[in-house]
Amino acid sequence: MEIDIATIGGYEEVGRQMTAVRAGDDIVIFDMGLNLSKVLIHDNVETERMHSLDLIDMGAIPDDRVMSDLEGDVQAIVPTHGHLDHIGAISKLAHRYDAPIVASPFTIELVKQQIEGEQKFGVNNDLQKMEAGEMLEIGDSGNVQLEFVNVTHSIIDAINPVVHTPEGAVVYGLDKRMDHTPVIGDPIDMDRFREIGREGNGVLAYIEDCTNAGRKGRTPSESTARGHLKDVMGSIEDYDGGIVATTFSSHIARVSSLVEFAKDMGRQPVLLGRSMEKYSGTAERLGFVDFPDDVGMYGHRKSVDRTFKRIMNEGKENFLPIVTGHQGEPRAMLTRMGRGETPYQLDEGDKVLFSARVIPEPTNEGQRYQSEKLLGMQGARIYDDIHVSGHLREEGHYQMLDALEPENVIPAHQDMKGFAPYVDLAAKKGYTLGRDLHVTRNGNIINLVE
Ligand SMILES: [Zn+2]
Repeated sequence: MEIDIATIGGYEEVGRQMTAVRAGDDIVIFDMGLNLSKVLIHDNVETERMHSLDLIDMGAIPDDRVMSDLEGDVQAIVPTHGHLDHIGAISKLAHRYDAPIVASPFTIELVKQQIEGEQKFGVNNDLQKMEAGEMLEIGDSGNVQLEFVNVTHSIIDAINPVVHTPEGAVVYGLDKRMDHTPVIGDPIDMDRFREIGREGNGVLAYIEDCTNAGRKGRTPSESTARGHLKDVMGSIEDYDGGIVATTFSSHIARVSSLVEFAKDMGRQPVLLGRSMEKYSGTAERLGFVDFPDDVGMYGHRKSVDRTFKRIMNEGKENFLPIVTGHQGEPRAMLTRMGRGETPYQLDEGDKVLFSARVIPEPTNEGQRYQSEKLLGMQGARIYDDIHVSGHLREEGHYQMLDALEPENVIPAHQDMKGFAPYVDLAAKKGYTLGRDLHVTRNGNIINLVE
């Protein structure tokens, strides 16, 4: 059976991930992501109304025109988790393919919401839920299957999809850390990865996320971040002024730790900001978390400001607002607080907890710097980096290569500079660049079996 891999997006950047695997006549697409920084750099761009080709020209979504060089039918579009760099282009590209979108329950719900917000295209692809551990027959040949393996990442319900073919398995390994004690959900299923490495013809190709390949050691578990947060919040338990926290809205495990520790401190947690309401509300509705009944979630500007007024009236010392704005995004809640645009008044000595790390990218670094300065000018004290990464470091990469023993390795989710440490690491495991280690660019097709 002929096997091709089309590296469509995310091979020259972090963002706009998209990869297609062709097995004989059948094609499976992994991810259709957005490169948000290419959108944010322009003022007032509303992607909801924009055409795909303009977004492709901006470098915001994958240039999927290479798909016409793959001879076969797309049978499934498979987003691996709900981060925008993996699902953000579905509303712009999926309607061009006559195939269902297949994803885990939380991811499919986020995809559904995104499609509902789309104003340019009618996206009518079937939305099909599939859980980790399940298999799906692909096409009519009877010998291609799709499997989801449970992984741990900074968003719940993340999976690594595997396409089983007679030539071996193709494992799409993007976005995970090896977490044996995640705060929500099951540990990463390393047993299954080891089995896949040893059954049938083994693993033909492994596509790997190189984000932290240059960092030594192992990415700590989410329970480490939780412990760090508990330590910080415990240390300011007796403070009788304002405490405000921010984190990734989609990081449900972290939000739920913040809610829990706020309660322990005797403060009322309130989730504020459009995306806080969206992700936490969705996670609660689907049963991934069970927040205490009195946790308020407010997204719209008016209801947020009303809540801030209530907090000021009833006393800041009784509340813990959990807000958007961990990267200093200009329109996010914390940035507005820093600019003094909300009814919430910061006083000398008030605490602001960043349960996030700045995404190392000039736009984010600049915006976050500005946000911290503005908060500081009002007297706020900053606690930063209460966080662990969602991506594998060196030792995790070694463990994956040991588990899967792939015949071919394809580094992804980085630019050329970001690939370099992974190439060195893979070379130490015996892979040779240009032979079985394929460094590539957006828009290429790697022919693995002719
Ligand atoms: Zn991710």
